[in-house]
Amino acid sequence: MARPRIDLHTHSTASDGTDSPAELVVAARTAGVDVLAITDHDTTTGWDAAAEALPAGMRLLRGAEFSCVSPTGRGDRDVSVHLLGYLFDPEHEAIVAEQTRLRTERRGRLHRIAGKMAADGYPVDPDGLLALLPEDTSAGRPHLARALVRAGVVNSVDEAFATLLHNGSPYYVPKTDTPVHTAIRMVRAAGGVPVFAHPFARRRGRVVEPSVIVELAGIGLAGVEVDHPDHGPEDRDLLRGLAAALDLLTTGSSDYHGTNKTTPLAAESTAEQALDALLDQATGAPLLTG
Ligand code: AMP
Ligand code: FE
Ligand code: FE
Ligand code: ZN
Repeated sequence: MARPRIDLHTHSTASDGTDSPAELVVAARTAGVDVLAITDHDTTTGWDAAAEALPAGMRLLRGAEFSCVSPTGRGDRDVSVHLLGYLFDPEHEAIVAEQTRLRTERRGRLHRIAGKMAADGYPVDPDGLLALLPEDTSAGRPHLARALVRAGVVNSVDEAFATLLHNGSPYYVPKTDTPVHTAIRMVRAAGGVPVFAHPFARRRGRVVEPSVIVELAGIGLAGVEVDHPDHGPEDRDLLRGLAAALDLLTTGSSDYHGTNKTTPLAAESTAEQALDALLDQATGAPLLTG
C-alpha cells in the first residue's frame, strides 16, 4: 500500500478557516488525505461535525491550536507562539476554561481593532462584523481581513495582513495568550499530545531560540512541526536536528485555512512513524475512523 497522506494541522469555520468542519473532512479526502487533524484556534466546537462527516476509510485526529506566549530565550520581550494539542479530553476543566476565556477576549479584541480602523475612516463596522460571527466561533484577524476585502479596502486577505493587520500595525491589539509552559502541562493533563506549531515561522515576526525548545521538551513537549509552509529549508534542517537530539517527534502539515490562505490541503505531510509515536502518547480522546 502507498504511504498514507497525513495532514495534522487544518482550520475550519470554527475558527479562521473557510470550510465548515464537514466540508473540511470531505475536501481533505478529495485531496488524497488519509489521516487528518482538525486544529482550530482555541476551540473544539468543530469536533463533532467533523466526526459526523468523516468519509469512509479516513482517520481523524481531533485537536486544537492553542494561542500561547513564550520567552524568546534571548531575554527580550515574550513572543506569540502556537501550540498544537491532539486527542485531549475536550471536557478537561482547565482547557474548557482557558479556551472560553480566550474566545471571549478574541471577540472584544477584534471589535477594538475594527473600532480603531473605523475611527480612522475605514469602512468597517465593529458591531456588524461580530454579529456575523456565531458566538462559538473563535474570532480572528482573518475575519476582519475578509470584511476589508468585501469593502474593497484591499484585494486579498494577504494584502490586509501586509498593510493593516500585521502585529506591528497601529491598529493591532494584542490578546492575553496562555503561557506556553501552562498550555503544555494542560494538554498533557487532559491526555493530549502537545506539538509546537511552526516554531520558526519568521515572516510573522520574532521567533524563539532553539534553547526554548530544549526547555519545553523537558516539561512535556512531545514534538515540533517541521514541514510547514512558513519554514525554509535551513529551519527545517535545524528543527529536525533538534528533534533528533531531544527525542521529539516531527510533523508536517499544510496549516490549511481554506481560501484565507493559499496553501492547499496535503501540501505537507507527516511520516507514519511520527503519527504512531503521537498516537502512542494520546489518552484523552480516541482516534476516529470513518
Ligand atoms: P489572530 O488569531 O487574530 O491573532 O490572527 C492570526 C491568524 O491570522 C493566524 O493564525 C493566521 O491564520 C492568520 N494570518 C497571519 N498572517 C497572515 C497572512 N499574512 N495572511 C493570511 N493570514 C494570516
Ligand atoms: Fe489561523
Ligand atoms: Fe498557527
Ligand atoms: Zn494554524
